[in-house]
Amino acid sequence: MQIAIDGPASAGKSTVAKLVAQELGFIYCDTGAMYRAATVLATEHQLDYGDEAGILALLATHKISFKPGAPGQDQQVFLGDEDVTLTIRTPKTTNNVSQVSALPRIRAELVDQQRQIAQGNSIVMDGRDIGTTVLPAAELKIFMVASAAERARRRYAENLTKGIETPLAQLEAEIVARDFKDSHRQISPLTQAKDAIEIDTTKLTITEVVAKIVDLAKKSA
Ligand code: C5P
Repeated sequence: MQIAIDGPASAGKSTVAKLVAQELGFIYCDTGAMYRAATVLATEHQLDYGDEAGILALLATHKISFKPGAPGQDQQVFLGDEDVTLTIRTPKTTNNVSQVSALPRIRAELVDQQRQIAQGNSIVMDGRDIGTTVLPAAELKIFMVASAAERARRRYAENLTKGIETPLAQLEAEIVARDFKDSHRQISPLTQAKDAIEIDTTKLTITEVVAKIVDLAKKSA
């Protein structure tokens, strides 16, 4: 079974997707982490974020992989042997990832890798184009939304636990800017699949959202 969870930045997709996967015994794939890893590659090799050929060549020699984190911790993300779990979440990566993710050949490569991860597995995958492009035949498609103010508040709280102190107003502006770029790019823009179920999480707890999706998954299995 495939469950696709899409939606704008900081709507809680990863947190929820991880818990849904855990509850159902499915594997989980955070596709945003893959675009973030490609962005880190560009930064580390001092490439322009628009250098499609350069980033693509680096992706060929630096395999993106995931390892389960310690209990209660995020899963770890690797570029070859390098642990980039923290680097992919820095403000610098966050504010440049939309430029890298708009590059058509980078998308083609990562979509290919994502489909390989999904092959033969029951999976929960979260991102922007999972229901529309990566897994169009997914049995369950969720589109998670929340107000920009609420998403900024959540990101602010999450950042504090990581020692990152960006002002709330700046975070909200960055979230709105990233959504705009992700929704207006030419290839696979962020958009709700016709057969996706929208869940507005503004006033819901994580537990409530997870329960709702697990329930929908059981009904569509
Ligand atoms: O989900 P997350 O915020 O980590 O995603 C980071 C960025 O990666 C998004 O803002 C978007 O530019 C890109 N992305 C994408 N397609 C996906 C997942 C993420 O373009 N399936």
